[in-house]
Amino acid sequence: MANKDKKASLLVVEDEESLREALKLNLELEGYEVTTAETGPMALKMVRNEYFDLIVLDIMLPEMDGITVCETIRMQHNDVPILFLSARNNSADRVLGLKKGGDDYLTKPFNLEELLLRVDKLVVKNKKIKEPQSVSDVYKFDGCSIDFAAHECIGKDKQVQELSKKEAALLKLLVEHEGNVVSREQILQIVWGYNVYPTTRTIDNFILNFRKYFEEDSRNPKHFHSIRGIGYKFTA
Ligand code: CA
Repeated sequence: MANKDKKASLLVVEDEESLREALKLNLELEGYEVTTAETGPMALKMVRNEYFDLIVLDIMLPEMDGITVCETIRMQHNDVPILFLSARNNSADRVLGLKKGGDDYLTKPFNLEELLLRVDKLVVKNKKIKEPQSVSDVYKFDGCSIDFAAHECIGKDKQVQELSKKEAALLKLLVEHEGNVVSREQILQIVWGYNVYPTTRTIDNFILNFRKYFEEDSRNPKHFHSIRGIGYKFTA
């Protein structure tokens, strides 16, 4: 996987400037790429447009609290790991945060080493879940074949069709996750790379091409499915 050596990308959401800067600095020293947001709405905007490996999310924020931010992110079918920060040492708060989809929780003031350990643990765990099955250079299904190394495929019409680099990369990603939905965020991260965001329509156009190549009836696809608001799925 090409993204293995890439720095993990974190979003730190904290309204207190000194703490936000301290977190950014220390996380960057650990080798992470760090983006910061001061408010909930700012964080939501960033999460919609960019892939993150983890969000460090303060609960007490102006405009919109961290728990609402987390809830909104989960409603958008985004399962990015979230580590909550809270000034309140309140177990009810902790339970609510985790119930609303947080993955871990730290109470301020926290020990920096502990925060770094927890961040590392969540990032590694998330990477493992995303580890795909390996696929050989030539993949065959339903009378079609794809040669990922040669960037070629043979579709329903039995003609050899050249694939662009991005087409080959997206096909490989979908095939590696055969039977499972690959989220738009994963596609953006792996095929387009960090911080470059094509629109959903761009991905849709790729899927339309795949249907042309590989489907008997591209209006009733058996192999390349779009799952509205979530992502895309390949079935063999
Ligand atoms: Ca705060």
